[in-house]
Parts: sequence; structure tokens; C-alpha cells
Amino acid sequence: RAKKEGRGTHRLFTPGMDTHLQERHVIRQALHGALERGELELHFQPLVALATGRLTAFEALLRWHHPRRGLISPAHFVPIAEETGVIVPIGEWALQEACRTAATWPDPISVAVNLSPAQFRSRTLLAAVRRALGASGLEAERLQLEITESVLLLEDSLNLRTLEELRRLGVRLAMDDFGTGYSSLSYLRSFPFDKIKLDQSFVRDLPNSADCQAIVRAVAGLASGLRIAAAAEGIETEEQFAALRAKGFDEGQGHLFGAAVRGSEVPLVIARYQLSRNPRIQGN
Ligand code: C2E
Ligand code: MG
Ligand code: MG
Ligand code: MG
Repeated sequence: RAKKEGRGTHRLFTPGMDTHLQERHVIRQALHGALERGELELHFQPLVALATGRLTAFEALLRWHHPRRGLISPAHFVPIAEETGVIVPIGEWALQEACRTAATWPDPISVAVNLSPAQFRSRTLLAAVRRALGASGLEAERLQLEITESVLLLEDSLNLRTLEELRRLGVRLAMDDFGTGYSSLSYLRSFPFDKIKLDQSFVRDLPNSADCQAIVRAVAGLASGLRIAAAAEGIETEEQFAALRAKGFDEGQGHLFGAAVRGSEVPLVIARYQLSRNPRIQGN
């Protein structure tokens, strides 16, 4: 359990019967008002074009600085924020903050923002996206929305309409964590995605696992057949990078290229990438 919670996360439970439930309750309470108290922050992780090593975008990732517990991972608190509905105002804030920050970056560099199912259900999503674009002045083409299959499970026609309207605004849509859901393929056929983002669980065992090699090859073929982009997350080694590039993946993200940094540090990352097409080769 603790292993799944990722880096920089404190173990939020102690051995005992219903500590897990208690823990969720404590988080739920503390999340209430976290936004107003300024405890939430967005960090930004680079995405690069695998063929050239150039920076294409940053993914905005939520961070919660709990006053006593320190940094809490979104993998831990986003599901609870979804249950209580507080993810809706948090998600709107993230859209605003991501667009505002990205509007200061050099032109082709985009920002990717994660959406949660509750934001779709609330039906305020389209207005929130319009507001975030309008207030920041960011071109719609530079905003990518990352959507997991769980978003699409219910009310297909409503979701389809929402996604089509988002696309009419000029926003790009990416299917996140591709391959982990129930019916990725039928969603790809029904919904207007611009990009597939292969889940990191398929990248982890590259290049040694023949199965993962086959899956990566098939997903690259699928994306090119659909004329959409193929991206991969969780790239940590040169070998994974090389395997994905050789199979025709367009874009990648992972610790090999850089972890998520504060908004104020993004210009440094951009400068580093502009100095050299491939800053990793210089040992950074
Ligand atoms: P995701 O959208 O799939 O984001 C990628 C996750 O992989 C991030 O975890 C990122 O830090 C991590 N990662 C990046 N490179 C590597 C790598 O090389 N190795 C490994 N092992 N991990 C890597 P993070 O930041 O903890 O976020 C976890 C999840 O929380 C995200 O998964 C996303 O589903 C959700 N999330 C984050 N921010 C938001 C948000 O603003 N709104 C919503 N609704 N969900 C969010
Ligand atoms: Mg994502
Ligand atoms: Mg992802
Ligand atoms: Mg993921």
C-alpha cells in the first residue's frame, strides 16, 4: 500500500483496525478550505518530442502542502476530493492557474491539465475552460486536457457533446493512462481525442519485456492509424526512451527528462532545453 503512494508522500496511517477510514476522514476535513488557505500548488513536468528532444509542453500536477503532514500526493487526495466534490473548485482553480502560468511561456509550449469525472458531472466545465482561457489570454491550442477513461464511463452522449464543444474551442484532448481502463478502444472510436498517453505501467518493463515491446508497437501503430499523437509517461531510463522512440512514439514524459517543478522554475527548465536540444546528454 505505502509503496503505491509514490515519492515524497508520508505514510499517513499507523497499524490498526479502521485507521484507513479514519485517515480518509481526516484528509477530507483538512481538504475542506485547503484551497482558500493557499495550501495547494501546481507543479509542472516537461513533455518532450522524442525525435528531436525539444520541449513541447508541461503537465500541471497538483501538490498539497499540509501544514503538519508536509507534501501529500494527488494520488492520495484527488480520489477523496472527488468523493466530496471539492475537486470541482480545486479543478477550476488548477485550470486558471495552469493557463495563467502557461501564458507567460514562449509560444509553442503548451500546458496539460488533468480533469476529473466530477468536473464533467458538474456541467460547469465548459464555462470554466472558457473563463480560464479568457482571463489568461492563452491560445486555446496551447491548452491540453488530460482525461482518463473513468471520466467517460457514464452518460456517453453528454460527455461526447462536452468533448466536442471543448474541441470546437480549439483545446486539445488527450486520453490519459491509456490501457488501464475497461474499453479504451471503443472510447477512442467514439470520442474526439488528439493524443493517447500510454500508462506508465507499460513503460516500466521496457525494453526487456517482449510483451511490453509488443504493446508499445501496437499502440504506436494505433495512434498513427488514427492520425493522433502517441505519448508515454514514466520514462526513467535511456533504454525506455530509445525503445519508445524506435517504435515511433511522438512524445514522452518522465524523470529522465525532468520531474515536476514549481511554476517559478519553469523558465529555467525552458532555458536549459533551448540551450541544448538534449540537456540530459550534458549530464543535467
Ligand atoms: P497522471 O496524470 O498520470 O500524472 C503522471 C504521474 O506520474 C504524476 O504523478 C507524475 O509525477 C508521475 N511521474 C512522472 N514521471 C515519472 C517517472 O519517471 N516515474 C514515475 N514513477 N512517476 C512519474 P503525481 O504528480 O503524483 O500525480 C498522480 C495523479 O494524480 C496524476 O496521474 C493525475 O491522475 C492526478 N492529478 C494530478 N494533478 C491533478 C489535477 O490537477 N486534477 C486531477 N483531477 N487529477 C490530478
Ligand atoms: Mg495526466
Ligand atoms: Mg497519465
Ligand atoms: Mg498515470
